[in-house]
Amino acid sequence: MGFNLKQYGIEVETIFRNSSVPVLYELGLRLEKGTAISDVGALMTYSGEKTGRSPKDKRVVKHPESENNIDWGNINIALEERVFMLNHERAIDYLNIKDHLYVVDAFAGWDPKYRLKVRIICTRAYHALFMQNMLIMPTEEELANFGEPDYVIFNAGGFKANSYTTGMTSKTSVDVSLERKEIVILGTEYAGEMKKGIFSIMNYLMPLEGVMPMHCSANVGEEGDVTILFGLSGTGKTTLSADPKRKLIGDDEHCWTDEGTFNIEGGCYAKAIDLSAEKEPDIFNAIKFGTVLENVVYDEATRAVDYTDVSITQNTRASYPINYIENAQIPCVAGQPKNIIFLTCDAFGVLPPVSKLTPEQASYHFISGYTAKVAGTEMGVTEPEATFSACFGAAFMMWHPNKYAELLAQKIKKQGVTAWLVNTGWTGGAYGVGSRMKLKYTRSMIDAIHNGSFENVEYVKDASFGFDIPTSCPEVPAEILVPENTWADKAAYNNTKGKLVSLFQKNFEQFAKGVNEEILAAGPKDLVDA
Ligand code: ATP
Ligand code: MN
Repeated sequence: MGFNLKQYGIEVETIFRNSSVPVLYELGLRLEKGTAISDVGALMTYSGEKTGRSPKDKRVVKHPESENNIDWGNINIALEERVFMLNHERAIDYLNIKDHLYVVDAFAGWDPKYRLKVRIICTRAYHALFMQNMLIMPTEEELANFGEPDYVIFNAGGFKANSYTTGMTSKTSVDVSLERKEIVILGTEYAGEMKKGIFSIMNYLMPLEGVMPMHCSANVGEEGDVTILFGLSGTGKTTLSADPKRKLIGDDEHCWTDEGTFNIEGGCYAKAIDLSAEKEPDIFNAIKFGTVLENVVYDEATRAVDYTDVSITQNTRASYPINYIENAQIPCVAGQPKNIIFLTCDAFGVLPPVSKLTPEQASYHFISGYTAKVAGTEMGVTEPEATFSACFGAAFMMWHPNKYAELLAQKIKKQGVTAWLVNTGWTGGAYGVGSRMKLKYTRSMIDAIHNGSFENVEYVKDASFGFDIPTSCPEVPAEILVPENTWADKAAYNNTKGKLVSLFQKNFEQFAKGVNEEILAAGPKDLVDA
């Protein structure tokens, strides 16, 4: 009685289930175009046309059981059950014409009380190895007793959706059914879609149990003090959570329970752009046999990766099991957070590089979820673009942001957590004039949060945001701590700041009704009346 997938209408007989890394390497190298081994043994793969997620193509089945819980809109776009089944059948039909398939049976969530049993069914060794890195792999015994999974992902990403199907706006579709407990993927081979699909499910399920799911990284100090770092893509969650002085709990997805924190994932997914041994040694050293390197460019002869080459995409990535980071906390479970850090990459250069927030300011900024994107590579475009994404990850939230904000506020209050804002973005002027904050300085500021250096320093209040800005920090020149002092052109500083404040205010209008007055009052004020 071999393992089979007949219960899903899949008749393919050759199934590689939780295969070893070498087996997946061999299959990938033999069958998947362009796949190669890097000079340090990582598997270099291509995700094809899509080199990032496709948020506009995500759909959620509208079903009476969950309908009233979901925050319908641009992020959670409703799909009829029947249309889900059309895509589902399309995926199954595609999977059925394959000579062999891969299955990954593994867990999401390190806390056994909340863990999900997940099954991935996919057509590429690359996808299987990626998910084996990103999920928590069962032991042999756990696999023998795995039983039926809680959720199944049918990854038929190598086959496109039919754009005439009702509700499809492209040939890519990522469809979630909370009732069938399934995700169907068509028209994208970007592996991150699977990991963030499971995260979305956790974001739905956990609040039902009073647990706070979070788009954050987390690490823990020698005294057991946990820090969680929220932030949108590119703000530094992965980079800053890898800290030789602290144990890594995880780099992207966590939950906060009454008992403490746990990582949802078993691995990390680091940006590889400009990666260097000097600046990010822990991540650099995690790239070895078993690591999946996505969409990187390498030397034909030596197979050495050029991390500065972004000709395929800016979003080059490395996926590795968390134990590839030397000081990982395994199992990835720890106590209550002591510090919460909101990371933002403020390309306007007006937010302080480090500041302390009141609990109300924390709520306000959690709901706002601000970061900025620097202009693309278009010539002459130098204006940064503000992005607001509620809960620092609106794309993955299924309930209304207030649900998560309330959970966070309760937990901050109950545990007496200190909230900080760390701007990893621009200093000395906005993008185009100033420069990005040195990673070395940001690391020193985070060290100062951890070792209590900010307990006995003087603070100044930011005039419009109201944050408490420490005026000194070990290893960091004091003049960079207050943004205004770093701008040569003070009028430009005030101007830019005013612009950012009004963007915050405008964005918050949609949330104003749902939050209490204290939170509303904790937002930034116009400079004139500040
Ligand atoms: P994602 O959610 O997409 O995984 P992330 O929050 O994990 O994003 P990182 O992968 O840590 O983001 O990316 C931060 C990038 O910014 C890295 O490439 C890092 O080298 C670079 N960087 C430059 N300066 C800083 C700084 N001062 N602090 C943090 N990161 C910096
Ligand atoms: Mn990351």
